[in-house]
Amino acid sequence: MLDICLLGTGGMMPLPKRWLTALMARFNGSSLLIDCGEGTQIAIKEKGWTFKPIDTICFTHYHADHISGLPGLLLTMGNADRKESLTLIGPKGLQKVVESVRVIAPELPFEIKYIELTEQMQTIERKGYIIEAYKVKHNVICYGYNLIIKRTGKFLVDRANEHGIPQKYWNQLQKGNTVTAEEGTFTPDMVMGPERKGIKVSYFTDTRPVPAIETAAQNADLFICEGMYGEKGKEAKAKEYKHMTFYEAARIGARADVKEMWLTHYSPSLIRPEDYMKDVHKIFDRCIPGKDGKSVEIGFED
Ligand SMILES: [Zn+2]
Ligand SMILES: [Zn+2]
Repeated sequence: MLDICLLGTGGMMPLPKRWLTALMARFNGSSLLIDCGEGTQIAIKEKGWTFKPIDTICFTHYHADHISGLPGLLLTMGNADRKESLTLIGPKGLQKVVESVRVIAPELPFEIKYIELTEQMQTIERKGYIIEAYKVKHNVICYGYNLIIKRTGKFLVDRANEHGIPQKYWNQLQKGNTVTAEEGTFTPDMVMGPERKGIKVSYFTDTRPVPAIETAAQNADLFICEGMYGEKGKEAKAKEYKHMTFYEAARIGARADVKEMWLTHYSPSLIRPEDYMKDVHKIFDRCIPGKDGKSVEIGFED
């Protein structure tokens, strides 16, 4: 089961009752955060989720509304006497940016590891998550992310028996390990069926609509996407500031044929995103306005 929470839905600045856009995921005892703007730790507290299991933080880009909450969160994690290392992932320049904000959070009881993204698309495996980073188009270098949980195939008992594999090795094979024993060498592909459909959550914010997003989000279980503007006549502004309107975002969701789509990163001037949904639904009816603290548990099919 993958738990997903959209911690906030704001863009540019936090507002009363609207925290900045960030996503938290929980899977198999490991938590992951994407973006950490001002107040993100309050949003986590409000949701009732905990900081301690966060071992990975991904950054889309280094605008303040996506990273300025980091030093405070690091201090909180340090005060909780965390000892395990923390891995940060983000565009080139990550270590320099983080070391700059670390001037106000200098002493931490845990190590920080850095993974800097340099390619158009990069895949990183961490604690059961497959993290795919896709370069998008903002006014600074910016990446969107897929979080993927893979699902192995079924264990085929008949095949195991046909190969004469003793039952005591089945567990190891099911875990993907090759077994070398007196009876012979057994490999997982001898007994495992084809890989089954996993879980995919796509998170893209602070970008113009570029083809990479549609490719990345293809058939996602959940697609969280920025929609800075809902009001008509804001297309030029969206282009100028390298953001999207609700309608541009919805078109991506429709083309990627995602199961469900949540809008986020609303302009501070946009008060009621739901007012624009009638027109959004003409483009894509599985798109809904994201809300602060909105969460979902996504399990494997069947
Ligand atoms: Zn932003
Ligand atoms: Zn930005």
